[in-house]
Amino acid sequence: MQEFRAAQKASKGIALGKAYPIRHPDLTAEKREIRENETEREKRAFRQAVKRTREVLRPLARENAVFGAHLDMAEDETLTEGVERKIHDGKNAQWALEEQMEETCSMLESLEDAYLQERAADVRDVCRRMMAFLKGVEEEPFPQLKEEVVLFAKELHPSDMAKIDFRYVRGIVTETGGTTSHVAILARSMEIPVLMGLEGILTKVGKGQMTILDGNEGVLFLLPDEKTQQEYLEKQEAEGILRQKLKEMNRLPAVTTDGCRIHLYANVGGLKDIEQAVKHGAEGVGLFRSEFLYMESSRFPTEQEQFEIYKKAAELLKKPLTIRTLDIGGDKALPYYKFEKEENPFLGWRAIRFCLDMRDVFKTQLKALLRAAAYGDIRIMYPMIVSVEEFRKANQLLEECKQELKERGVLFRESIQTGIMVETPAAVLMAEELAKEVDFFSIGTNDLTQYILAADRGNQKLTKLYDPFHPAVLRAVAQVIRAGHKAGIEVGMCGEFAGDEGAVPLLVGMGLDECSMVSSEIAAVRYQIRGIAAEQMKHLADRVLAAVTVKEVKQLLKR
Ligand code: PEP
Ligand code: MG
Repeated sequence: MQEFRAAQKASKGIALGKAYPIRHPDLTAEKREIRENETEREKRAFRQAVKRTREVLRPLARENAVFGAHLDMAEDETLTEGVERKIHDGKNAQWALEEQMEETCSMLESLEDAYLQERAADVRDVCRRMMAFLKGVEEEPFPQLKEEVVLFAKELHPSDMAKIDFRYVRGIVTETGGTTSHVAILARSMEIPVLMGLEGILTKVGKGQMTILDGNEGVLFLLPDEKTQQEYLEKQEAEGILRQKLKEMNRLPAVTTDGCRIHLYANVGGLKDIEQAVKHGAEGVGLFRSEFLYMESSRFPTEQEQFEIYKKAAELLKKPLTIRTLDIGGDKALPYYKFEKEENPFLGWRAIRFCLDMRDVFKTQLKALLRAAAYGDIRIMYPMIVSVEEFRKANQLLEECKQELKERGVLFRESIQTGIMVETPAAVLMAEELAKEVDFFSIGTNDLTQYILAADRGNQKLTKLYDPFHPAVLRAVAQVIRAGHKAGIEVGMCGEFAGDEGAVPLLVGMGLDECSMVSSEIAAVRYQIRGIAAEQMKHLADRVLAAVTVKEVKQLLKR
């Protein structure tokens, strides 16, 4: 028996089955310099490959948003124009395509935002389809699976997912990829356990070998012994029973045994996540990260483009929808806007600071939000607020937008709630004053933790220090909840901490009104809340808030 640890637990769950390694056909470009009289022929070949790629993607795009994004990429002229320029400069079509793909991907991969980095895999996927047409190779047909297997691959592309018969797939193991990749997202929505980042595993695994994949602990066993197999069969059965129970509770509210109601909301990055939120029984959206819309575009999206997306989101959800205004800068860049290099980007020109300076960009978004709010229960949330003035300035611009829409005679919602993310120490310290003016608070523990502990949230060397269970962070959270309740406003949380099973009892005890998290975590948190008593959690929270070290906190919370 061999045991391996994965770098990434991309989708939870346990799988047992025979290994099925997948190998992709060689799609490396044949490189050749061309003469001027060959240019047209190469361009024609390339355009034909693009045309066929679009034809293949069109029906897929109607079924699945991931392929919709691929179709957009295949139709994006910047990619095709880039390739044609290279052909014009004397490279054959295959070479030009490979080079253009690498340039686009390395641009995406150099961005600090994990979500955008992962989009490089999508670009590769689209270009691979084009390359297969250019080279005239049939992509290797995916296995006609007849028994339950665990798939092994170097990397799985979203398009591969459409070719696999998932009735027989118990688990997936890949050598590369990250938790925010589309493959991971799709697998999570299908509840298939996935391990990623097991470098070199394809050289170690043989077809048909028995394997166990533990997506909860991030462990893979090759050729497990009888005892381990038995142990995992039992674990798997227990998990199946729990999952069934969770599903049955999908429509039940998150109420503690003594009647305290917590609202469970979803964090989303776009329309496709809204569908997931509905499926997982979210009671609303607590954080719509609108910056993805800007990051996926090739220029600042127009008012009309944004209006249509927000309106569609509200109509799909039919529940409260909190849209955060553009939170750009820091770790999030825009491909079409050059930010000046800053010494400390996380302490720099970002989020509301950027928006209050770039008034036209901000007002375009605010107008789109006001118009979309006529079609659903939309609330506006400003990020990175450090002062009452910032909130007032943002709302003043919102008033200007209302006036301008009125003059244009456009339909919009006049009375719209505006709240803030509490994610800076300044906002915590000013919480009482802010609470008197805003309609709601949502605590952003991802940033709040980094600012309170002065520990960059992306710095691998600081992962031990960057811990929301630090007493200072917890006391800040408690202070914000108290201040919000004193002023009679709702206090939610949309940082990752809100979906952390170790934190939920504490948050209930502190009196948080709303937890917003990635949709797939909602069921487990709902189950957890329905099994605890708020009154007991209050006592627990008192003890936790008196603790002075992370260790004490974790002991009290049994983490
Ligand atoms: C946060 O900071 O907690 C948050 C939810 O926002 P983001 O992770 O997008 O910065
Ligand atoms: Mg934040």
